[in-house]
Amino acid sequence: MRLLLVEDEKRMAQALCEILRLEKYEVDHATDGISGLDAVESDIYDIIILDVMLPGMDGFEIVKRARQKGIRTPILMLTAKSELDDKIIGLDSGADDYLTKPFITKELLARLRALGRRNINTPDGTLTFGDITLDTGTSMLSCSANGQSVRLSEKEYHILEYLIANQGQILTREQLAVKIWGIESDVEYNNVEVYMSFTRKKLAFVGAETEIKAVRGIGYELRCGRV
Ligand code: CA
Repeated sequence: MRLLLVEDEKRMAQALCEILRLEKYEVDHATDGISGLDAVESDIYDIIILDVMLPGMDGFEIVKRARQKGIRTPILMLTAKSELDDKIIGLDSGADDYLTKPFITKELLARLRALGRRNINTPDGTLTFGDITLDTGTSMLSCSANGQSVRLSEKEYHILEYLIANQGQILTREQLAVKIWGIESDVEYNNVEVYMSFTRKKLAFVGAETEIKAVRGIGYELRCGRV
């Protein structure tokens, strides 16, 4: 899952990025309101953590503008203030949840899991397509037809997660590169092909009839022979 953190406090942001990456989130970090809004409006994130007090533009304004533009990504607001008024403004502006600093990590992670489930709509923590099931907690890929399973690497997991979340659509190499490697990374498109091939091998390993089909000149799509 790709997560955006908009937070200007350096130490806080560094600590959060580390924790979130350990939890297997792909994390991008914006340090002020203006670059934060830009990143939010790129609409490539699954969850956004947004600090309220930011240089350039505050978190409330960012949420308001993003929602006006039709960005529906779940947003968790963070603030150092504990006043109830802030909470009300935050929720009114279109934020989905609210956490007051200082908070404990466990609490943050629990809120993120809840928002992540809301986003991809998987109450039991799994994603399914055709004959495959992806466990969002353990990164295990399994085939429902024969019970075979295998653990995916981080990139393989993100590729399949993204393809399943967008089933029925063709995803371009550019979309995949941005989603899996991030806006600022200068990943070669060859990398996408290399990881596609790894991911296909895992699908073959579990005996799945679900395949990643290359659509010439456009991109990739998930298809299943069993359905
Ligand atoms: Ca701040």
